Amino acid sequence: MKYIDMHCDTVAEMYYRKERGQQYSLYENELHIDVKKLQKGDCLVQNFAAFVHLAVRKEPFNYANALIDLYYEQLELNKAYIAPVYKFEDIEKNEKAGLVSALLTIEEGEACEGKIENLRHFYDRGVRMMNLCWNYTNSLTTPNGIDIEKGVDIKETANGLTPLGFEFVEEMERLGIVVDTAHISDKGFYDVLEHSKKPFVDSHTNARSIFDHTRNLSDDMIKKMGERGCVAGVNFCCEFMKDLKKEEYGVSFELAVNHIKHLINKGGEDCVGFGSDYDGISSQGLAMADASYMPLFIDEMKKQGFSDDLIEKIFYKNVLRVYKEIL
Ligand SMILES: [Zn+2]
Repeated sequence: MKYIDMHCDTVAEMYYRKERGQQYSLYENELHIDVKKLQKGDCLVQNFAAFVHLAVRKEPFNYANALIDLYYEQLELNKAYIAPVYKFEDIEKNEKAGLVSALLTIEEGEACEGKIENLRHFYDRGVRMMNLCWNYTNSLTTPNGIDIEKGVDIKETANGLTPLGFEFVEEMERLGIVVDTAHISDKGFYDVLEHSKKPFVDSHTNARSIFDHTRNLSDDMIKKMGERGCVAGVNFCCEFMKDLKKEEYGVSFELAVNHIKHLINKGGEDCVGFGSDYDGISSQGLAMADASYMPLFIDEMKKQGFSDDLIEKIFYKNVLRVYKEIL
């Protein structure tokens, strides 16, 4: 079955290798995602994030552009297998041609360095989804859990979007860039919820009721997302899935489907998709070891009583609906 994955860090991983003078190739590599694994997994659309770590990258705009250069360089080399998505119709066109679709995203709104013209620049370069922040406060918003290095769990309820952040949300909706609330503060989430007019996504996240982590969604957030036609992408990061003080490292299909089930219970059948976070997460004990393992979710979902229709929605139809409305 076809699937859509709303988040991976493969481009940044390839860039690290390029910087160190090592081999990197989107066609075949030792990462979680390459063309061969996407084909084997039957991927419809893979989102590729230009991820900017503000503490390491002092020129976020230039760095994001360098990542995007690498993304297009690799797509060009692999154009027989994978092609970019600029508008919704490209997904259908690529599928008919037997190609996997690639959708460019930005993880860290400060890639725009606080300038709305840079947002337009990235739209022109093909960016179709962006989250407003990663783990640092920036000119657009405050994130949750900003002290993750110290393991401090901060749910930020006082600080959300800045006036510029509100302006960005408006401009993203106008341009046709999907607003992504991943990493944003609790206050920022509700700011986006109240201020946005179109469905948004939380591209890689899980359910707080199963494991209470700042990166996960509360039941109220899930419910509100469901009401608004938004989609949450289930993330395979072990730290967001379960309590590692009590349990061993590793993620099973059963555990991931438990999170999916909870999201459905609170937000309805239309609010769940995938946001693997592949190549941004540990491989240790990861049952869905790389993108080629995605079809194995079907067995676990069937075991847990999901109908074929519901599996289809989670695999691609829910995210496709949002793309159709926004792209
Ligand atoms: Zn992330």
